[in-house]
Amino acid sequence: MFENRVYNFSAGPSMLPEAVLCRARDEMLNYNGSGMSVMEMSHRSKVYDDIIKSCEAKLRKLLGIPDNYKVLFLQGGASLQFASIPMNLMKSGKADYIVTGQFSGNAAKEARKYGTPNVVADLKEEVFKRIPKQSELSLSPDADYVHICVNNTIYGTHWNYVLDTKDVPLVADMSSCILSEEIDVTKYGVICAGAQKNMAPAGLTVVIVRDDLLGNARPDTPTVMDWKVMAEKESMYNTPSTYPIYVCGLVLDWIESLGGIGELEKINRAKAALLYDFLDESKMFIPHADRDSRSLMNVTFRTGDEELDAKFVKEASSVGLLTLKGHRSVGGMRASIYNAMPVEGVEKLVAFMRDFEAKNK
Ligand SMILES: *Cc1c(COP(=O)(O)O)cnc(C)c1O
Repeated sequence: MFENRVYNFSAGPSMLPEAVLCRARDEMLNYNGSGMSVMEMSHRSKVYDDIIKSCEAKLRKLLGIPDNYKVLFLQGGASLQFASIPMNLMKSGKADYIVTGQFSGNAAKEARKYGTPNVVADLKEEVFKRIPKQSELSLSPDADYVHICVNNTIYGTHWNYVLDTKDVPLVADMSSCILSEEIDVTKYGVICAGAQKNMAPAGLTVVIVRDDLLGNARPDTPTVMDWKVMAEKESMYNTPSTYPIYVCGLVLDWIESLGGIGELEKINRAKAALLYDFLDESKMFIPHADRDSRSLMNVTFRTGDEELDAKFVKEASSVGLLTLKGHRSVGGMRASIYNAMPVEGVEKLVAFMRDFEAKNK
């Protein structure tokens, strides 16, 4: 590891692979013989055109995105998509929302400005510790779409099955799990992801949309939020987030060099198992998420004593294990272990937890 780097368990923006940062550094002042940084070049230049086109091609290859899906590189974060989704898809004004955490709650709230979202289930009473089973959900056959958040960043839960929505398009927020596991894109109508967790620095939002869903935007939809226009203009209606798209390309090269998403998923499962296995045997730390709903990316836990939690976070940071405090809405601790977190970081965290437990019995 590069000198003085820490293990940063931040939920986002979060760690980027060291190999990516080094390559960005090496290419910083003179990208590929252009004599300039990627930050300085026109988004309409030939050299930049190659960057964005190859980023899309690499993403298509790694995720297996079929030709009848468009890939959009947008701005405004996943939160802007909470408005773009109803604006582009709510033809009849009806959509189903399954609220499994804060972001899906925000999405449902935003949709209320444009129609009548139907909250099929809201797990708030259970502090969002689990994902509902298919059998618990009665979906509306006439909804324009069903919205879910696949990985709940704050609560550390994950949909460990793909919801069957019959002919209704499934719209999935994958901000905190994209590129972490293999997915079947054809099961989804739309996939959205803010890039700052697993793909790139903040400032880029990726939308993958099936092409038959384009062309229904409300007339008052701002042009940069109209997926059809952005698809036709290949994300170049206006200036895209040029540098994050470039870094995204480097991240995709890094994933390719590891053997692709299947290989990465194996590593992610092994990393998460290190933490969950310890949590299951620990007498001090209590995992937040139900076993069948656990996230591979965000592991949430607590001691049950707020002062002890604070002591844990403080002492961990003094040994180079940073940003372990849980989100204010759930408390306790959260270890975000995205793709770029090395296995050594998780091993060091588990060793620290074991030691902390022994010393604070
Ligand atoms: C971080 C996050 C968001 C919000 O992303 P912004 O880019 O800050 O708007 C939405 N959904 C999920 C699942 C997230 O993890």
